[in-house]
Amino acid sequence: MFTTRFAPSPTGYLHKGHAASALTAFEAARAAGGRFLLRIEDIDATRCRPHYEAAIYEDLAWLGVDWETPVRRQSEHLGDYEAALARLEADGLLYRCFRTRKETAEAIASAPHGAMEVFRGGPLPADEAARRLAAGKPFAWRLSLEAAARRLGGFGGLSFVEQGQGEIAARPELGGDLVLARKDIGVAYHLAVAVDDARQGVNHVVRGVDLFEATHVQRLLQALLDLPTPVYRHHPLVLGPDGRRLAKRDGAQTLRDLRERGMSAAELRKELGFG
Ligand code: GLU
Repeated sequence: MFTTRFAPSPTGYLHKGHAASALTAFEAARAAGGRFLLRIEDIDATRCRPHYEAAIYEDLAWLGVDWETPVRRQSEHLGDYEAALARLEADGLLYRCFRTRKETAEAIASAPHGAMEVFRGGPLPADEAARRLAAGKPFAWRLSLEAAARRLGGFGGLSFVEQGQGEIAARPELGGDLVLARKDIGVAYHLAVAVDDARQGVNHVVRGVDLFEATHVQRLLQALLDLPTPVYRHHPLVLGPDGRRLAKRDGAQTLRDLRERGMSAAELRKELGFG
């Protein structure tokens, strides 16, 4: 069955861009007689706030979107992400990255062929990594593109279907060796999303084109974790009056502000092309 989702992070109030995303997914599910799920992407406890989560439910209900319950909250499934990470590690696909932000910036600045080469360069020399591990230094887990390519025989066989455009070759290597578990929160966005979309049976991912590159990386994780690949639909972003993409910092555009200023959900839906 057609199953899609809207997956906001409760790090701010929803704005028109989120409304467009939620409505695109919701209407697609409705047209297909399928399922619409809501997922709260709240793994980053340093930035997520309960009142933003409460506002997500309120704003979506106002918009006329309804979703299946229970809602999946990522913070309640950390064990799933740890299990996926452990599997990748057991498969020899990860390495501990002890580099500090400053060291990363310096390594990029001094790299002869630009940043990509740095992250392809892999871990610190083994003795230095062992020294930092023994000293209890914090580390992130990075995916080794080199090991991943070896395991899959290159990335040439990786692709995904973009709705309306057909098959697109995945280029996960463009992002370098990805952080799959952050130093501070023990997990990172891409891994959680790849695991969750599979766990929830999501077979159509509808999201903004700003996440197009994320899809290439998530496609690689699907291959490494034997997860199915959904069909993707990356919709254009809603632009502000200045022609720039909306961001949470543009407070004036939040759905609650629009509502307080007297805009009705019907008017907003119409403006966004869901009349
Ligand atoms: N949580 C992400 C965001 O709010 C969206 C993730 C996704 O749709 O895959 O930008």
